[in-house]
Amino acid sequence: MVEQEPFKLLVQGSSPCAPTNVMINKCIKCDTKIPDERVHLGYRECVECSSIEAYSAHIVYPHKTGAYVQPVSQETKNNLDRLDRRAVKVGGKMSNTSAREWKFPEPKPQSKPIVKKEKVVFKHKKFSDVFVKCKDIYNQSGYDKSLEFLSELFKTNKINLTTKRNCVNFLTTIHMLNRKQRKLVLK
Ligand SMILES: [Zn+2]
Repeated sequence: MVEQEPFKLLVQGSSPCAPTNVMINKCIKCDTKIPDERVHLGYRECVECSSIEAYSAHIVYPHKTGAYVQPVSQETKNNLDRLDRRAVKVGGKMSNTSAREWKFPEPKPQSKPIVKKEKVVFKHKKFSDVFVKCKDIYNQSGYDKSLEFLSELFKTNKINLTTKRNCVNFLTTIHMLNRKQRKLVLK
């Protein structure tokens, strides 16, 4: 098995067959140390010596509101600034042709999916009313019937879960009491 060696950059003038073990991290022009990220991007010159010009920025106003910055080369930037200055001179408007020439296509507004909100209002019965009715049913028809009554109200959305739970808790509690105690509670 051949052992894979880590990737090595070739030095200018070196033989490809014998790559050097040293990562070139010094500017080939002025011998200053180049930051790692620059080396990893494949640059061989420091920022000072680099022949690639730095990117400039131009601010685009597609409408009166909302501007965005478009990275452009220095030359383009100069041209754009020239056009902008001229635009100011002729009264705030660029000629259509130059505007079209330099304009960045406006980003398309992303249409949001319209979520239809159906406003469903349930008129839930008041807890106190349901509670009283529950007690009545419990007294007349017993525990099971009173629970059925609550289930039915909940299923048909006439009471909310809290009302149902509270009533069931009450019914279960009194049902576990003995007759004497129950009498006191239901009085
Ligand atoms: Zn340099």
